[in-house]
Amino acid sequence: MQGAATARVERGWLDERSRLEALARAIEPSVRIETKDGWIWRALGRLAAIATFGGISKRRFLEDFATTLGPLQGYPAAWSAGRVEMILVHEARHTYQARLCGFGLHPWLGIPIFAVLYLALPVPLGFAWLRLLFELDADRAAWRHALARGASPHEIRARARAFAAVVCSGSYGWAMPRGIGERVFERAAERVITEFESDPDASARA
Ligand SMILES: [Zn+2]
Repeated sequence: MQGAATARVERGWLDERSRLEALARAIEPSVRIETKDGWIWRALGRLAAIATFGGISKRRFLEDFATTLGPLQGYPAAWSAGRVEMILVHEARHTYQARLCGFGLHPWLGIPIFAVLYLALPVPLGFAWLRLLFELDADRAAWRHALARGASPHEIRARARAFAAVVCSGSYGWAMPRGIGERVFERAAERVITEFESDPDASARA
């Protein structure tokens, strides 16, 4: 019994660091993943605490949040590999989007253009189509990856609906009216599921 119980314990992401990094780099070669123990994350944690007037404490920033800074991704050391994996794919895809905005040369070069498109166009909130589309594109990559790793269509649909609601909430600056955002995500999820079911290998490579 002891053995069975132990086998179910989720592995920490540091045990699978090289697999996770290879996965991210297949999407965007510049990605580096780190624990949030380094000085840069501590400094950002302090800034987050100041900027939110303590709403997000430095400790919460370091232990409860994943953070992406260009090609650099920081994760709390205690997180499971499964928890890191979904976020990793989604964020690597955003970094790739930034590279595209930099004419394919490097994500850092594209980040200013990416930021303007993401934050402000066509309007900063209420009808921020591009923000919705950047998020949809990033999450589609995560759905494809999850399906290839054995997630059920039901799980993908649930994730799509839940994430659409978050993108249309204050957390993402009310990108779009929620009803529209959810419909866009639901349709995209159905397409990804159909593609995967008709050709799992091609879908995993996309
Ligand atoms: Zn995102």
